[in-house]
Order: sequence, then structure tokens, then C-alpha cells
Amino acid sequence: MQTQLADWAQDTDFGREAEEILRRCTHCGFCLSACPTYQILGDELDSPRGRIYQMKQLLEGAEPTYVTQQHLDRCLTCHACETVCPSGVKYGALVDIGRQVIAERVRRPWRERLLRGVLRRLMGSPLFGTLYRVGRWLRPVMPAALRAKITVARDAGPLPQGRERHARQVLMLANCVQPAMMPSIDAATIRVLDAVGVGARYASGSGCCGAINFHLDAQEAARDQMRVNVDAWLPLLESGEVEAVIVNASGCGGMIKDYERHLAHDPAYAERAQRLMPYVKDIAEFLAPMAQAVRAKMRSAPGRSAFHAPCTLQHWQGLRVTTERLLQDLGFDLQDFAESQMCCGSAGTYSITQPELSMSLRDRKLKAIEETMPQTIVSANIGCICHLQGGTDIPICHWIESVDEAMHG
Ligand code: SF4
Ligand code: SF4
Repeated sequence: MQTQLADWAQDTDFGREAEEILRRCTHCGFCLSACPTYQILGDELDSPRGRIYQMKQLLEGAEPTYVTQQHLDRCLTCHACETVCPSGVKYGALVDIGRQVIAERVRRPWRERLLRGVLRRLMGSPLFGTLYRVGRWLRPVMPAALRAKITVARDAGPLPQGRERHARQVLMLANCVQPAMMPSIDAATIRVLDAVGVGARYASGSGCCGAINFHLDAQEAARDQMRVNVDAWLPLLESGEVEAVIVNASGCGGMIKDYERHLAHDPAYAERAQRLMPYVKDIAEFLAPMAQAVRAKMRSAPGRSAFHAPCTLQHWQGLRVTTERLLQDLGFDLQDFAESQMCCGSAGTYSITQPELSMSLRDRKLKAIEETMPQTIVSANIGCICHLQGGTDIPICHWIESVDEAMHG
């Protein structure tokens, strides 16, 4: 697509990046059928092609409006359109630029600013864990919509002692919302890794991957969080003290694997972020070469399961096949279901900022899954797990918890 950037966008890093992406789009429309918002709303302006066109107009100098902002807000950043695009259009990178450009020029209504500000501060607060526990305590008396956002507590179980004795050591994400919401996932990850001779620990000084800020109009604050993590992890990795950063929430994993892009224009961090990339591994990626050793430690096979591959796993990181193969190697009896490439509507804080679309996608996903009558639904991202659990009685957990259960009971 030919583009003529406005003066203010020309000769900028974001302008050059956007122009390169825009030029690749041939307007073929293959991406429309993959887009959840287009599937539901049937409006071209809520499709990838329509959003690309709106961003092109914006970067060419059209007046940014709140209406355009809403079309971009409704995008789940699921990247399903990238998976099917024959021209390799990096839609995700473009929408990051488009959202930032609009956020700098359009003032949201006060309710939206308040909601986004509260979400950023609440989820990024060291008190989040305490507040979440209070919410859990109040769960029985909450309205149904709010109750669906708070998961029932699961026992995390004891952590293995002496795991620092293992020759192989890895890092896990510290100060993430996941351990506060569902500590059983980290505990299961640590136990499974320990069982195959890998010690897992948290790096002091590291924190949230930045995803929450990044998707709530605070990209610079997110970049600061990225820099903190690069500083905390890279010395430990390059000294050989640890061999990898293991991520068991695909939303965080997708974000961290994008550090290279997000910090590409920072002279002090661009090259360091690039050096970090080979060390960042989803837990499935890390365990796949050790599948036999993991299986040997399992005392039972997980039963009939449906695996919901989060968008951040399948479309961002391209790890759906790797994960499904690993689960099959570990004895999961995986059930196929319709539209498994489609987003469940969780998408970070999307279920709070866009509740109607989010619920409609959740119900559609659960209907497809429930038709296969699984005993358990397994997934790979805390957001999807909590979101889906709010709409079904079938137990949902991270697949690593099922593996842990099969190992340790
Ligand atoms: S993004 Fe890709 S699939 Fe969609 S219209 Fe452009 S070239 Fe076609
Ligand atoms: S990222 Fe997902 S929701 Fe957004 S345009 Fe692409 S397919 Fe549609």
C-alpha cells in the first residue's frame, strides 16, 4: 500500500517502522475471517484491514478521533491476523504505533482515563496480592460479573527444598500478578523443574514484564519496566549462573520476546535486549527436549483434556504445535475443538475495558470446548484461565499444574 506520511511522522523511528509495515499490506482481506472482532461485529472498521487503513490515514495526517481510538481499542491484539496474512504484515507492531500516536493526541473521556489509571496502579502495586486475597474473601457476596474475575483459591503446596543444589538453574518472573492470583502455577512449575534436575528462582530487582502498562496507554512506563528486567536478568544469564528465563504465562512471554522491538530505538538497551532474546523460553519450549524425563516422573496420565492455546502462545510466539506435541508426549488425551485459533476474549485487561465483546468471545470459546466433554481444560496463560473459569464448571488450570499433579498427586 503506497503511503505518504505526514511531516510530523516522517523521519521518525515509528514513522519509518509504520511505513515499512503499511507498504506490505496488499488489502487482500485474507485476515478478515481470522479476526474475532470482525466475526462478531461484521464491521470492516473493526477488522485488521480496516484498522490498518485507519492507521494509514492517521499517519498521513488525518485528524485523530475518539472513534478511531475505539476501533483500535476493540482490537484484542491477538495477532490472529498475522498468522494468516500471506504478505507478512506485522499488524501487532503497527497497532502499537497507532495506539501510541492516538493516545498522545486524543483525550479519553474521564471514565476511561480513570479506569485505565486504576487498573495500571492496582495491578502494578505491591499490594495487589493482598487486595486480591481480600476480593477472594468477599467473592460470595460480589455481583456475578465481578465474581467471575476472582478465582477460587488453590493450594500451592510445598516447594522442594535444596533446589539450588542443581547444576542447571533458571530464573522465573518476580513480582508478576500471576503468583498473586494463582500461586499454584509457579509452585507446580518449580516442582516439575526440580523433578528433572533444574533449580528455579526469582531474580531480585526484576518486576512486571510491562504488559499491563503497555496496553493501557503507558508505553514509556512499560519500557522502563523492560529496562529494569534487562538489567536484572542479563548479567545472571551471561555469567552462566542461570541458563534461561522461564515464563509460564504466555502473555508475559509474548511481551518479553518483544523487548527487542520495543527497545530497538534506545541506544543504551537495543543491543542488550537483543542479547536477552535467546534466553527467554516458555515453559513448554524449555521442557520439550526433556519430555521423556518429565514423563518418567509422572505416576499417572492426565485425562481427557481440551488445550486452549492462548493467542500470546499460538499467534505471538508460534508455540502451539510445540506445546501440543509436548502435552501428547506427556500423555494428555487432547480433544480437538472448533475455532481453536480464536481468542477467548481475555486479552489482558480487555475483559474489563471491553466486557461485552470479551464475554461473547468467552461463551463462544466455551461452547466449542464443552462440546468435546473434556474432564479438564488446560491452558498456558493466567488471564485466559481466570477468564474462562468464570463461565464454566469444568476445572481449568495451567497444563504444568496437571503435570505436577500427575507427578506428585
Ligand atoms: S494485513 Fe495481510 S491479509 Fe490483511 S489485508 Fe493486508 S495483506 Fe491482506
Ligand atoms: S489482532 Fe486480533 S482483534 Fe486485532 S485486528 Fe488482528 S485479528 Fe483482529
